[in-house]
Amino acid sequence: MQHRVNALTPTEPGFLSYHAQLLPLKNQALDRRATLVLHASKPEHLAGADSLLRALLTEGLSLKLLLCCDSMPELNTLYSNTKFEKDHSVFKQLLECEPLALKEGQRLQLEDGRLWLDLHLGDVATTLAALPCGPQGAVDAWLELLPSRELLRLSRDGAHCLADGSKHELDLSERLALWHEYRRKHRLPLTVGTVEPKTTAIIGGGIAGACMALALTMRGQKVSLFCATAELAGAASGNRQGAIYPLLTPEDGELCRFFIQAFLYSRRVIEQLQSAGHAIAHDFCGVLQTGHDQRSAERLEKIIQASHWPDRIARRVDAAEGARLAGLGIDSPGIFYPLGGWVSPAEFCRAAVAQAQQSGLLDLHLGTRVTAFKQLEQLKQLEHGWQLEGPDGVLGEFDQLVLACGEGIMQFTQTRSLPVSPFRGQVSHVPSQGALPQLKTVLCSQGYFTPGHEGSHCMGASYVKGAQDSHYSEAEQRGNLDKMRDSYPQQQWLEDLDISAQSARVGVRMVTRDHFPMMGAVPDSQALMDMYQAQGVGPAAARFWQHRALPELPGLYMLGGLGSRGISSAPLAAECLADMMQGEVPPLSQALLDAMAPGRMWQRKLLKGKSLD
Ligand code: FAD
Repeated sequence: MQHRVNALTPTEPGFLSYHAQLLPLKNQALDRRATLVLHASKPEHLAGADSLLRALLTEGLSLKLLLCCDSMPELNTLYSNTKFEKDHSVFKQLLECEPLALKEGQRLQLEDGRLWLDLHLGDVATTLAALPCGPQGAVDAWLELLPSRELLRLSRDGAHCLADGSKHELDLSERLALWHEYRRKHRLPLTVGTVEPKTTAIIGGGIAGACMALALTMRGQKVSLFCATAELAGAASGNRQGAIYPLLTPEDGELCRFFIQAFLYSRRVIEQLQSAGHAIAHDFCGVLQTGHDQRSAERLEKIIQASHWPDRIARRVDAAEGARLAGLGIDSPGIFYPLGGWVSPAEFCRAAVAQAQQSGLLDLHLGTRVTAFKQLEQLKQLEHGWQLEGPDGVLGEFDQLVLACGEGIMQFTQTRSLPVSPFRGQVSHVPSQGALPQLKTVLCSQGYFTPGHEGSHCMGASYVKGAQDSHYSEAEQRGNLDKMRDSYPQQQWLEDLDISAQSARVGVRMVTRDHFPMMGAVPDSQALMDMYQAQGVGPAAARFWQHRALPELPGLYMLGGLGSRGISSAPLAAECLADMMQGEVPPLSQALLDAMAPGRMWQRKLLKGKSLD
């Protein structure tokens, strides 16, 4: 079977002449987003691409543009040298979003959500080589001829190449061979992104489940969401206020790359939901982080020296500037995150679910606990699918299942042994009195303290390993106050912190050792243990696992292990998972997806021939 990538000779300058060639996409793509790739290196590219995108949007297509450009200054220069046909080009909209010079793709939603734009800065060949897709390919049109291996691997059957004139014919077997080579190299499960799902179930009504519901319904998928409590956000995601800011480390490695992008994406989702009419209490008032002892102060200093963080992400402040920014006295120098702030996670959840419901694709089952789920393969010899059970019997059958159930992940036989641990936390509610209403930013040191909202502040939080009970603890309430005293020992305003009303909220965070979320396909832990027993440990076992994916449970995914940062991390992690499930190109590189894979810790040990115990 021939797979053609047709390079069409332009009949007039710009890409608009290709509009007609892309129109067949209209029929194929109305139930999915058509994906285009542009490597912007000449002003004509921007002008032509803008005309083409507008023409396709006018035809009613939903589009995704992977925009690759060498650097942010390069993009700005190209933009200012371009003569656009229309004043309000999509690239103007892109620059109005003020993208930062960052690694990894920045996903922006433009044109009322009909155009998704993933901005990738850096070498185009490296960028494309790092992006995965499903076996059916993901790209419908290339607006320039790019490195051919990646072009082949990422192309959909029948993709167009609207490049400089030469004609390319590529056969499908080569494309699939490249895809398999990529899959083996990255030890990816075979079935991810291969099922054309009609129905997906999500277990969990916290920030993970809400963001998954939004991401999947935005892709036209039918979703049933099951939530044990009668209200959304009844568990960890129900605090009054949660801090939102990027997690930076002195290593400036993958963790920072993920959290900076995720934090910025979360901010954008909050703003979009808000402008779509869903109220979400929040204030991007900045976050001021200071050390509480010598060790933590030294760590902050290492973080700020680790990289040239864009000033809008993080900058060093001395104690005087910190105090001026905060509106209250602060004892030490620290890091200020100007785009950070606080948000009501419960309102965030409700807004995301309400928006998903507007699509008409979401069935919401509140107050419905899932007690077990079973593979249809075992029940009915069906190739894929999952049956969900509740206390009163079968709840339904679904092609795919996403576990977004926080601490609930430990209830199910299939996921009980995953290396993720519960940590109880109590956040104290403090009346806004005395000097406290002057607070203008979120303070973060040994604990955190938010600006007032509806007459009170959140002060948190305790961190108790293993404990899962949700009772109020007087010791933890006092512990939260002590953390503030340790953090700002000289400050008069500490006298205004009153915890006597015993007002607090308790939740359980699920924490991974490497602080990455757990996002992706859930490995078959039983089959894995059987294989592990058979192979044993040592160099021969390590070789065995070298090019092997962990055994999989087709159609079973999870988004969890969000630790103390779920508000920042869940929206982008959900977006990546939804892309993976559909075989589409996610905004983040395979390296970051690997870093979040639920089975990563087992895989790392197996690859070293080590014991799993
Ligand atoms: P949850 O919010 O716990 O949601 C799990 C959902 O699954 C619930 O709806 C539950 O009812 C449902 N469920 C479970 N089992 C089942 C079942 N069997 N059937 C049906 N439904 C089920 N993060 C920040 O970003 N900033 C902060 O400042 C911050 N502060 C925190 C303070 C405290 C005290 C705590 C505990 C956490 C804090 N976090 C903070 C972390 C953040 O709250 C979590 O990362 C996030 O809420 C996790 O979301 P989730 O959706 O994974 O889990």
